[in-house]
Amino acid sequence: MGGRRSSLDRMSLLRQPLLLLARSSRVKGLVSSMPVSAGIVRSYVPGEATEDAVRATAQLVDDHLRVSLDYLGEDTLDADQAEATVQAYLDALATLSAHKLTRSAEVSVKLSAVGQAIPHHGQKLALENARTICRAARNAGTTVTLDMEDHTTTDATLATLRELRKDFPETGAVLQAYLHRTEGDCRALAYEGSRVRLCKGAYDEPAEVAFQSRLEVDKSYVRCLKVLLAGQGYPMIATHDPRMIKIASSLASRNGRDPGSYEFQMLYGIRPDEQRRLAAAGETVRVYVPYGSEWYGYLMRRLAERPQNLTFFVRSLVSKK
Ligand SMILES: Cc1cc2nc3c(=O)[nH]c(=O)nc-3n(C[C@H](O)[C@H](O)[C@H](O)COP(=O)(O)OP(=O)(O)OC[C@H]3O[C@@H](n4cnc5c(N)ncnc54)[C@H](O)[C@@H]3O)c2cc1C
Repeated sequence: MGGRRSSLDRMSLLRQPLLLLARSSRVKGLVSSMPVSAGIVRSYVPGEATEDAVRATAQLVDDHLRVSLDYLGEDTLDADQAEATVQAYLDALATLSAHKLTRSAEVSVKLSAVGQAIPHHGQKLALENARTICRAARNAGTTVTLDMEDHTTTDATLATLRELRKDFPETGAVLQAYLHRTEGDCRALAYEGSRVRLCKGAYDEPAEVAFQSRLEVDKSYVRCLKVLLAGQGYPMIATHDPRMIKIASSLASRNGRDPGSYEFQMLYGIRPDEQRRLAAAGETVRVYVPYGSEWYGYLMRRLAERPQNLTFFVRSLVSKK
């Protein structure tokens, strides 16, 4: 389809540069000097401390929502930093437990934050670190979901998932509909008890491995939804897209699924009214709540999804309020 570019297309031209900036350490240094309280950051991240995250969790749970807490950080090449991340998760789990929130709140973990990218032994270290978090989550009465990162890590992350599930079958997986391979991965993971979060995917991926247009990604998302909702597992439908939510709801009822046999997931601060509307309609809805000081990469991915927010971002950067 040729012709004039829609404003949506023009906006999506900004996606790739923003995702490149997400990996720039120079820009990261500048932007990270903004306090987390700065307008745009605060709209996506409730704070830096465990207490901020647990306070946000309690409020969401009061509103009949569930939560997955994400301690921000990724791509560490430092084993001590990976260990500090593990400790942060143990602290979060203990605090959730002390506040009796673990029936409603789990944690999401990026393997690259617990050492996966460290040369030579990173894969083994990340598995051991993830195992420590899974054990603490189990003891606290809750679960872990392994976030999915860029496509170079997909096989390694799925291999770690398989290892973890031997002892912790409740561990959640994430699959990204923009990857060509994902419909097949959905088939492989649609077995009984298997918790699978389906998202569109947030990284800048090449055409060899990923669909490039919105339409193709959406079509793939629907194909994956069909597989997961017809399967035996527990689908976690992570999207803010009204069309995908509608299609998921009708596929769920067509497959005779009750609301408790799957859940919707959205990010903290995005479409909060829709989160509450779905919960009030009897759906299970989980909000992904990121916290901590390493919010840069996360924020840039959110801006890449919605470059309209760039103006607010630049304004808060300049005023540094
Ligand atoms: C719970 C959860 C966990 C996730 N985990 C991962 C993961 O592990 N790995 C990964 O690669 N990706 C992950 N993602 C991100 C995901 O891949 C998408 O990048 C993101 O959800 C945007 O896609 P969308 O399905 O909402 O659809 P889009 O087509 O991007 O958006 C649909 C609509 O949602 C609203 N919206 C979307 N983004 C924003 C925004 N930033 N600000 C304001 N409104 C917005 C707009 O109304 C937009 O029209 C996760 C997403 C969620 C919800």
